[in-house]
Parts: sequence; structure tokens; C-alpha cells
Amino acid sequence: MEIKAPRGTRDILGEEVVLWQHLEEVVRRNAHLFGYEEIRTPVFEHTELFTRGVGEETDIVQKEMYTFTDKGGRSITLRPEGTAPVVRAYLEHGFFVRDPRVRWYYLGPMFRYERPQAGRMRQFHQFGFEALGFQDPACDAEIILLAWTIYRELGLSDLSLELNSIGCSLCKPHYVQRLREYLESRKDVLCENCKRRLVENPLRVLDCKNETCQMVFREASFPNIQDFLCAECRRHEERLFSLLKRLGIPFVVNPRLVRGLDYYTRTVFEVKVRALGAQDAIGGGGRYDGLARVLGGPEVPGVGFAAGMERIVLLLERSGFPRKDTFRVYLAPQDEEGEKDLLALSQVLHEAGIPFCLDFASKSLRYHLKRAQKMGVRFVVIAGEEERKNEGFSLKDLVSGEQMLLSREELLGRLRKERKAC
Ligand code: AMP
Repeated sequence: MEIKAPRGTRDILGEEVVLWQHLEEVVRRNAHLFGYEEIRTPVFEHTELFTRGVGEETDIVQKEMYTFTDKGGRSITLRPEGTAPVVRAYLEHGFFVRDPRVRWYYLGPMFRYERPQAGRMRQFHQFGFEALGFQDPACDAEIILLAWTIYRELGLSDLSLELNSIGCSLCKPHYVQRLREYLESRKDVLCENCKRRLVENPLRVLDCKNETCQMVFREASFPNIQDFLCAECRRHEERLFSLLKRLGIPFVVNPRLVRGLDYYTRTVFEVKVRALGAQDAIGGGGRYDGLARVLGGPEVPGVGFAAGMERIVLLLERSGFPRKDTFRVYLAPQDEEGEKDLLALSQVLHEAGIPFCLDFASKSLRYHLKRAQKMGVRFVVIAGEEERKNEGFSLKDLVSGEQMLLSREELLGRLRKERKAC
């Protein structure tokens, strides 16, 4: 039987690769401009990093992790997200002592055992930013600005930014208590999973997508976390709001936004694009001041953001952006000597920065021209006996049908001009 890529994974190839490269370039350039350096963490980690860091009661840990025992008997998990590994690296390399304030970014594959559908994969890619050691709400604003800048530069429109605060270790427990009481009173209509979570971790109930549970969350008397924030959390939130207003970034407060990971404190946010349908989130993040502690380190404030690259590429594809740089010259040798001449010419083209594709001598001119056409290449350089006699090359323009014999210098001059005009 033919072997296919596993369900929820896919190959990225052809023209789509150009979109990925463009996205990666925009992310790297903007991260650099904002002072974020790249960090590359392993694709797998000890399972405990995620059970502790992401949270036992989260969907990710309960249902979605790719976990296996390696040949040494260790429990290993393919990373489902990037923040816990980054904080693990920060602690492991002693940044807290030598350089407590870092700004890092990453790009790479993540793995979650989810039900695949449009925009939801089992292997997907994220880029993300993490700023560790910064307590100031201006850093939350900086991260949001960076994300926003990237989305805008990519030409994405109809973005909506939802914001919330989920409080700190002082005020969050009061809300959780109230939430538990409320959910208890509506227990009869909640799904089985929510009933269980309401005991273990009521905040996680809000991740439930079940329609009946969602209706409960929308009830007018449903407790609003914004009413429970302590003075410090409120100040933090108000300052963030005023900074975002100053930056001209529109947002709405969504008091039900809690995000599916346990480690958040205070700011949480999500960016959505309605045109994407059911899987409309193209990124999200927040503050996680308690995470380093949970992972066995000291108290280190942190704020971060992660974006789903598949969904962004989908939007880029729909907008027809960016246009692929298709200029390429097809080199068609007529015999072995011609092959030599064209191989030598390819060195000169390379130096001149002109992309080329060399085919080999065993095929007829008819074949070469057909192939060039199929590849969408406009100019074909031909080298055979005739060209050798004249110490030059023939250049055929497949659009006009025109063919001319040129010296090497003339050929280069013409190709440079055509490339510029393209
Ligand atoms: P999260 O780490 O769950 O906050 O996800 C951050 C972003 O990653 C989301 O907003 C999505 O854009 C993207 N994402 C999360 N899970 C998947 C998935 N299974 N497939 C594709 N993209 C995903």
C-alpha cells in the first residue's frame, strides 16, 4: 500500500513555499527591529515540562499531547507550544542571574493531537515572541504592537483584537471561587467534561466549545472577571488600554477570554480574522508571571505571543500576495560542448544574480522549449554548433517568439534589463 503523510500533517511545496518564506522573512525582520533575538529549543521535551507548565487540566495536556516513552524509559512529549520550552531554557541557562531581561522569538513546528480540519493540523507551525523579566504593562503593549505590525505588513485585514485580564494570584482565586459557585448552580446543563473540570479547575470550563455550555457562559448573571480584579491588576490593565489607544490599535474587552493554558496571569489576548470561519484565531498570548516558579525557578515576570502560521498562509494565499519572483532563464544545450558552455555561463549568471535552470544535452530543442514553457519561463538560452561558430548564444523569447544570436556580454546586458523590468 502507498504510504501517505500522517493525518493532520502535510507537505509544504511548490508556490506555497514562497508564501512561507515571505512570512518567515517578515517575522524575522520585525523581530530584529524590535530587539528580539532568535531562540531554538528542541522539538521534544520531558513530558513534565508541559504537564506542569501548561497545566494538568488543559485540553492540551489531557487530550492533545504526542507523548511516548523513549528507549531509555523517559516520558517524552513533542512540544505542543513554545512558551514552556523557552522559559525552561531561560532557567536552565541561568539568565535570571546573568541577564534577567531577555527578548526572544522562535519559529517552528508544534504538535497537538486534535481533530484535523481546515486551519487545524496535528503538526502546525507557530512563530512567537517571549519577553522575560519585564513587569511593566508597556511590555504587554510592545508584544501586541509587534504582532499587529507583522499582521499589517503582511496585508491582513479585518483583524480583531480581544483583550482580557485574568487577574493575579491575589484576585484570581476570588473569581475562581465565584465561578465555581455559579457553575455548580448550572451543573445540570453542563457537559460531563465541564462537570469534572468545575471541581478541578473551573477556569478551564470556559474553554468548552459545547453549545449548551457556551449559552451558560453568555448568561447575563455569569460572573465577570473584570469585576474581581485587584487594584494592581486594574492599574496594569488600564495602563495597557491607554497605551494601545495611543498606538492606534483597536481592541475589545472580552471578559470570557481565558485562553486554554493554565499559566496566564493578568493580560490575555487573541487576534481573530472572521473570514477564517470556525478556526478564526491567528494568534494569541498573554502574561505569565507565575510560570517560571511553576517550573522550579524564581519569580520571573513574562509576556508572550504565538501565531499560527498555517492560518496566516491561508489568508496570504487568498489575497494573492506576494507575487512570486518568476524571472528565470532556461539554459538549453544542443550537444555536449553546448552543455559545457552553458555550465560556464551559469557561473556568470550566478554572479550577476540572474536565476537560471540548466537542462542537459540529451534532449531535443523542441523538448527544451516545451519544458521551459511548462515551467513558465520566458527566456531560453541555446548553445549548439551554430552558436559556437559565432562565439555567442541564442536567446529565444517565448512570449514574442523572437530569437537572436548574441555575444556573452550582449546576452548578459539583455537579461539584466529584462530582469529589472520584470
Ligand atoms: P495557542 O498556543 O493555542 O494559543 O495557539 C496560538 C495560535 O496557534 C492560534 O491562534 C492558532 O492560530 C494556532 N494554532 C493552534 N493550534 C493549532 C492547530 N492545531 N493547527 C493550526 N494552527 C493552530
